[in-house]
Amino acid sequence: MSDPKKITVATTWLDGCSGCHMSFLDIDERLIELAQRVEVVYSPLVDGKHLPETVDVGIVEGSVSNEEDLAKAHEFRRHCKFLISLGDCAVNGNIPAMRNLFPLDSVYDRAYKENVQLKPQRPNDGVPALLAVVKPLHAVVPVDLYVPGCPPTADTIWFVLSELLEGRIPNPNNVTRFGA
Ligand code: SF4
Repeated sequence: MSDPKKITVATTWLDGCSGCHMSFLDIDERLIELAQRVEVVYSPLVDGKHLPETVDVGIVEGSVSNEEDLAKAHEFRRHCKFLISLGDCAVNGNIPAMRNLFPLDSVYDRAYKENVQLKPQRPNDGVPALLAVVKPLHAVVPVDLYVPGCPPTADTIWFVLSELLEGRIPNPNNVTRFGA
């Protein structure tokens, strides 16, 4: 049961390097202040693994590269009142989208056959199928706020969360840029 005085936040990473989440943690001692006003109800950073029915703010890192990413993006959109696309991978596909230059079959072959010496084969069991092309988050669900950067700095993430806590829609354009 979440604390009704706190806003609830859920985070997830799709196809990314987790660097955006690391940048989130880099807000350092401000995490203590944040913890007094925010409850993280679902995230790779906390134990809770059940996304509540309604979450105030959802934060998504990473691009949409496979069927599992796609399902998670839709799940977050369904459950989160306000959805943030965090970091260049989520905002524009960034590094994962570099594979879009090549046909999907050649990507599979390069990764699982040409560069493998032992049992080269395409993985099937328990591995979500890749989408034909990597997509940014907003290509599959509506997004409420974009926070570019690779990763966005801790100060940028703090600015965005602080503004939301004050009831304002932040404008991160002045505090971050692509690749910053
Ligand atoms: S935007 Fe950069 S830091 Fe964030 S997940 Fe992508 S590659 Fe990693």
